[in-house]
Amino acid sequence: MIFSKSYCPHSTRVKELFSSLGVECNVLELDQVDDGAKVQEVLSEITNQKTVPNVFVNKVHVGGCDQTFQAYQSGLLQKLLQEDSAYDYDLIIVGGGSGGLSCAKEAAILGKKVMVLDFVVPSPQGTSWGLGGTCVNVGCIPKKLMHQAALLGQALCDSRKFGWEYNQQVKHNWETMTKAIQNHISSLNWGYRLSLREKAVAYVNSYGEFVEHHKIKVTNKKGQETYYTAAQFVIATGERPRYLGIQGDKEYCITSDDLFSLPYCPGKTLVVGASYVALECAGFLAGIGLDVTVMVRSILLRGFDQEMAEKVGSYMEQHGVKFLRKFIPVMIQQLEKGSPGKLKVLAKSTEGTETIEGVYNTVLLAIGRDSCTRKMGLEKIGVKINEKSGKIPVNDVEQTSVPYVFAVGDISEGKPELTPVAIQSGKLLARRLFGASLEKIYHTLFWPLEWTVAGRENNTCYAKIICNKLDHDRVIGFHILGPNAGEVTQGFAAAMKCGLTKQLLDDTIGIHPTCGEVFTTLEITKSSGLDITQKGC
Ligand code: FAD
Repeated sequence: MIFSKSYCPHSTRVKELFSSLGVECNVLELDQVDDGAKVQEVLSEITNQKTVPNVFVNKVHVGGCDQTFQAYQSGLLQKLLQEDSAYDYDLIIVGGGSGGLSCAKEAAILGKKVMVLDFVVPSPQGTSWGLGGTCVNVGCIPKKLMHQAALLGQALCDSRKFGWEYNQQVKHNWETMTKAIQNHISSLNWGYRLSLREKAVAYVNSYGEFVEHHKIKVTNKKGQETYYTAAQFVIATGERPRYLGIQGDKEYCITSDDLFSLPYCPGKTLVVGASYVALECAGFLAGIGLDVTVMVRSILLRGFDQEMAEKVGSYMEQHGVKFLRKFIPVMIQQLEKGSPGKLKVLAKSTEGTETIEGVYNTVLLAIGRDSCTRKMGLEKIGVKINEKSGKIPVNDVEQTSVPYVFAVGDISEGKPELTPVAIQSGKLLARRLFGASLEKIYHTLFWPLEWTVAGRENNTCYAKIICNKLDHDRVIGFHILGPNAGEVTQGFAAAMKCGLTKQLLDDTIGIHPTCGEVFTTLEITKSSGLDITQKGC
């Protein structure tokens, strides 16, 4: 609630601040109502503040313009705003993959009311899957299991050299492998649902789209719409495979989203792309005995060490994978329907005018992945995205351009696209948002010996260390205000480089009388609030 005057520049600043935070305020312009002067009198009695703006957040008196901005800078304003019980949830997470689920579970452990929205838009081939995101359903897990299938085939070949004799013809059954892997994935999907339920996290299998500040529209697969509000939001919507944008690609090609649950063996396969996804898929398909060709536009494994990338390519070639370098597909045509059918691929050289044709049973596109950020109403609440990549720029604490909206996982700009990164970011974000501090601060005031006789002031010099609780109380911050601060700090700096912990400091014998010894006897944590004033030397 802002008591304001329409012509007052300080009132305008405060109104602009709340508007930039996406907070809807009640504003009473005291110069535009008949009893404005009376209201101002009453306010002065209640708050001891005669001037405008006079700001209240959730019934708490914040003060005038300066106090409101101070509260904003210290984070107090945001906390007061969060305490608005008018929201349905403390936190809504859009995306139930590696990042979203870890954040949801941690926030719930910290006592927050949390909802997770997860919805898989079916691939152009109609494939969809359960809760858990890319890694579990169409990424790390099925990929590694199919790789294992290929390795077992290799072991069978090797086994003859180790004396195994058998006459049966050994062949691979795609349907058996896929069924076993999909059964395992179903058990993981179920496990995720259960663990959300155990932690009282509301899971809704629906698509989330922001409609206004703090409000999201949730649409299920039947098209039914529901609206929810939350104090804070986390976007963890991941990425989906990119298509070429050529004739026939969405109609006839598959991607990694389809491969791991493909109900039939893909047969002779063209893999388009040179990312790790492309090469890993080509590797295990060849490993189970299929005829595999990889079509590469420029270099293998962009962003990786190129000497290693070329060695990977040569090894694959020695083991039967064919490479078509410097070509890109321009048209895909269906020659025969079937499971698999037959496709004709027309490709052109990236270096000249040469064109080539090939016939394959399956064309697997692995040419990159696009962030799922463009169809979820981010523009309606002002969350900025990188227009080119679709990624969301975030600051050091995963905050987007809108203060109450955060982003983790593959869609965060500049972060490695890997499951452990998404999991760790989600968990740490929840801890940062909901108060479980990762840092422990020890501190004390002290009185250097040389100051005592001279009668200089006690309780002026100050020592403080900051420890990382998650890393054995490793010392990550070191502060000293007192004589010889530079000398003391230089010595401890080397110790910090060597991984200094609070325990190591406690085990260190102090050199007495010095100023530096104070760090070997730090006992009081800042959070305890205990008195740190010193009575003597
Ligand atoms: P995701 O796990 O993708 O989850 C996002 C979820 O949000 C999805 O379920 C999506 O459907 C849902 N969603 C999207 N938009 C909405 C919306 N508007 N409303 C509701 N829900 C929505 N990483 C590794 O560390 N090791 C590996 O070996 C590895 N192998 C991989 C192999 C392949 C083939 C692929 C494709 C990826 C692999 N990765 C690997 C990468 C890893 O899978 C991702 O880094 C990780 O899954 C990212 O997690 P995330 O939480 O950002 O998103």
